[in-house]
Amino acid sequence: MGGLILNELKKCPSVEVKFGLRYVGIDDDPKKDFVRVMCHTKKPPDDDVSYEGSYVVGTDGANSSVRRLSCIPFDCYTFSEFKMIGTNILFDFEKRMGYTPINFFVDPDEWGVVAHTSEHGDGIEKDGEEKIPQWRSEVAHSKSMKGRIDFKIIRAEAYWIHQRCAAKARKGKIMLAGDALHSNNPIGDLGLTGGILDAFVVGNALTRVVKGGESDSLLTDCANSRRDAWLNTTSKLAMSNMTRLGNFGDNEAKIRDEFFSRLNTDPEFPKIVRSGLDKMIPETFEKPVAVA
Ligand SMILES: Cc1cc2nc3c(=O)[nH]c(=O)nc-3n(C[C@H](O)[C@H](O)[C@H](O)COP(=O)(O)OP(=O)(O)OC[C@H]3O[C@@H](n4cnc5c(N)ncnc54)[C@H](O)[C@@H]3O)c2cc1C
Repeated sequence: MGGLILNELKKCPSVEVKFGLRYVGIDDDPKKDFVRVMCHTKKPPDDDVSYEGSYVVGTDGANSSVRRLSCIPFDCYTFSEFKMIGTNILFDFEKRMGYTPINFFVDPDEWGVVAHTSEHGDGIEKDGEEKIPQWRSEVAHSKSMKGRIDFKIIRAEAYWIHQRCAAKARKGKIMLAGDALHSNNPIGDLGLTGGILDAFVVGNALTRVVKGGESDSLLTDCANSRRDAWLNTTSKLAMSNMTRLGNFGDNEAKIRDEFFSRLNTDPEFPKIVRSGLDKMIPETFEKPVAVA
């Protein structure tokens, strides 16, 4: 994904990508028309470098330093009773265990998602070796592979899951996007999707303001739109996805049974479920089309 984005950026001569810089400080004086950030390179003697710009967009993930150094709280909560285990596995779940490309597991303990992500695994198989597909597993507890040794784990991490949103998506000349702005549970893959939508929308609004000379208030509208989209849609979708898999209270079980029953019998229902996704991007902030 990084490679794809870098290749696209090479087509934009005004864009420069710098690796190895850690954002450590910000000076956003409301009386000035620029904002200054300080970054640390860990390469003495000139290991602190500063940059000035009209705006800063903090896209530095759920532990965002941009958000923290701007004193913007990350509201709501983190699930403290369990950690999620994310694993990339080389194993043919389809052939060996009869899985479909995307599998959601409904279970009080072993709820989660196992999905096919790549035809040829990590691409490091030697010539003549069977190419083993790669799958991604996101589970709270993992017992399904117990007793097996015929799989290879490429990457695994246990991580806390958040359902959190920054108290503000814009403060002064600083905007937040992606996980720096919002972080949700991974069931339904809405974290990455929401961040990509933020990038699209914030990019449109910045272009209109910086290049098109439109009012700075457009950026406030854009920031509020992205934050509201997460609070009103993305977070609710992600929570209902997760509740449906792992919650076995009487009420949740009844709601789940009705949901699956409708999914199996009502041909219109999948469209209704999918239509919630449209609301993840209520406004695109594309340049309005000029009327002749
Ligand atoms: C273990 C795990 C598994 C996940 N699995 C899935 C999944 O299967 N599907 C899905 O849709 N989502 C998944 N997510 C969520 C998804 O990864 C995020 O929603 C997405 O990566 C957010 O993108 P982002 O660019 O906003 O932030 P990130 O991907 O977190 O990128 C932030 C970047 O900022 C850099 N950075 C951090 N601090 C600084 C600093 N001070 N200065 C400079 N740079 C800094 C980091 O090095 C990083 O490169 C998972 C998350 C985790 C933690």
